[in-house]
Amino acid sequence: MQEATAQSFCIANLKMHGDLRFNAQLFDAYLKQIPSSQHVAVVVCVPYPYLAQAQQYFKDTHIAWGAQIMSKETEGAFTGEVSAHMLRDFGAEYVIIGHSERATAYCESDENIATKFYQAKAHGLTPVLCVGETLIEREAGVMERVVDEQLSEIIAAYGAGVFADTIIAYEPIWAIGSGLAATPEQAQAMHVFIRNKIAQLDEKAAQTLRIIYGGSVNPKNALQLFVEQDIDGGLIGRGALYAE
Ligand code: PEP
Repeated sequence: MQEATAQSFCIANLKMHGDLRFNAQLFDAYLKQIPSSQHVAVVVCVPYPYLAQAQQYFKDTHIAWGAQIMSKETEGAFTGEVSAHMLRDFGAEYVIIGHSERATAYCESDENIATKFYQAKAHGLTPVLCVGETLIEREAGVMERVVDEQLSEIIAAYGAGVFADTIIAYEPIWAIGSGLAATPEQAQAMHVFIRNKIAQLDEKAAQTLRIIYGGSVNPKNALQLFVEQDIDGGLIGRGALYAE
């Protein structure tokens, strides 16, 4: 389905790891070890306090940076929140939206996720929308229905066209941090499902949408996953703490 020349993404989610010293070593290693490629965009999503450090290290390099969450509001009395505009102020180009670790631990609603997705795009950020099912849902065979509902909330609010030039990360919740990645076949099947859903509603948006896989990607399984035709790269947590 995908054009051979389409760009892939390798997105690091550093979660709540690192500090100034650790990051300095990691970012140096990224710059030395990750080659520049016109086919693969490399992005590092850092905790808020380290956006300035990411900017310092990656400005004018082949590596972009972003955040792991943002506010759905644009400005105002929202203590502790960080807006899309503030992320842009630090040169961020990407933001993860709806990661399951936020959705489950901090009760992020689908409605909030939809608003954030839209706000990110409206402020010139590329949203990386996380979707995926729990283990119980996969075992019950309803994983496509679950992902369908997650996408439908955004489509109902903003239309399928909003997915143009954005990224969806298929992240089965059971695979995140568990050491048990989806098989390439499982991931490919879901990616085709997602792409077809968007394409049925907006063919043009589907063409510029990138669908990446996340969940226990490691040096052993990465290649098998990423050679699948509809897997446009990865969202990588633990594995991203090691540049190699
Ligand atoms: C993630 O947090 O998005 C993720 C995929 O984590 P891990 O690679 O550690 O499973």
